[in-house]
Amino acid sequence: MGTGTIPFWRVSQPPAAQYLGGVTFLGRQGGASTGEFASLNLSHAVGDSVSAVDRNWSKVKSSFPAVRYWARMRQVHGSTVFVVDECSLEQVKECDALVTAVPGVALCVLTADCVPVLMAALGGRVVAAVHAGWRGTAGRLVGEVVQVLVREFSVEPNALWVALGPSIGPCCYEVGADVVAAFRSAGLGSAVRDLGGSPSYRVDLRYANRLALSDAGVPLSQVVDVGGCTACLAAEFFSHRRQQGLAGRQLSFVSCGQTPLQLGSGQG
Ligand SMILES: [Zn+2]
Repeated sequence: MGTGTIPFWRVSQPPAAQYLGGVTFLGRQGGASTGEFASLNLSHAVGDSVSAVDRNWSKVKSSFPAVRYWARMRQVHGSTVFVVDECSLEQVKECDALVTAVPGVALCVLTADCVPVLMAALGGRVVAAVHAGWRGTAGRLVGEVVQVLVREFSVEPNALWVALGPSIGPCCYEVGADVVAAFRSAGLGSAVRDLGGSPSYRVDLRYANRLALSDAGVPLSQVVDVGGCTACLAAEFFSHRRQQGLAGRQLSFVSCGQTPLQLGSGQG
């Protein structure tokens, strides 16, 4: 964890740290929001005060001055992958995955239990950010993103590095029969844990995304987990499930074209 006024998590273990130097995961601490949104809520769509969210964004931007543009999504639990180019830097895209090769652009994901998946290839010159809730995970959205990277940027899947951020763990993610059926029909049934009680089923979203990445050709040795369960770690993270739907959103981002040496301290 970082030591600035905005705590953050980065990939620290070698060799992954060398390839994922542009990846940053923020938690809920360090902002101006109050109540259920305390304190670093970065979503304008959850009922928080607009001015508090604006202040939180200002603080994030000043804390990471190496980022020139913050490319954001209006996340809809769909399967659209948007390629951010020089002409679309400031648009808010309705999609659940972003890809770019524009230096200085940070691709943003907002979550509160869903999995933020951040990818880098070619020394960080091509990056991707994915919002993987249960629908996106069961729909193998990460595999779609790999296909876009192959098609648009000639990235080989085995040259990709991936960080899976803080998300709800199988310890807390109870699901119903419809979700179980979706994972099984997607060939991801091994991510379902049947505990035999009532409710009996839980899903390991990060494990399911690992499987989908592996099926897409990404070596599992190049997929790293960062952070723990958002529902368990109440002080560190927002959790839609724990907070019964009234929660802020934490930011995860990957910045393009930045190796660890070129990054600022990232501390507010
Ligand atoms: Zn948990």
